[in-house]
Amino acid sequence: MLPIKLLIFVAFISTALAGPWAIMCAGKNENTIRGCDIHGCGSYGASRGKRKHNGVDVTCPDGSVVYAPFNGKIIRQAKPYKKDNAINDGIQITGEGFCIKMFYVKATKYKGNIKKGEKLGNLLPLQKVYPKITSHIHIQNCDLSDPTPYL
Ligand SMILES: [Zn+2]
Repeated sequence: MLPIKLLIFVAFISTALAGPWAIMCAGKNENTIRGCDIHGCGSYGASRGKRKHNGVDVTCPDGSVVYAPFNGKIIRQAKPYKKDNAINDGIQITGEGFCIKMFYVKATKYKGNIKKGEKLGNLLPLQKVYPKITSHIHIQNCDLSDPTPYL
């Protein structure tokens, strides 16, 4: 019986270590933070020239289905750039005490209720704008604090 107990224990620990948010990228078994590539690093606070990365990048292949991390609602469309390009889209969502912006997502809707794990849209073609980047969803807290513990 010991192996079963051990298995349950390991499952419990890995659940405890993961944050409260659901997996955001279809086909993944965890929210993985983008490492460093030729365009930069995906961690919170990473250097962006003179600025700092004020969100965290969750790896996700171009075109993948993107899921809601928590129950709540879509507040509005939220775009990362002033100047338009192929990946300039996203949404702001709130719920369960969270408020985040998700960039590079082509949403199926820009308003209304969402359930944790529900499809929000698809990842836009990051490779077209940043060739060889580790494609990702940019997740940013509305108050610009570190979202990493919630992943
Ligand atoms: Zn980012």
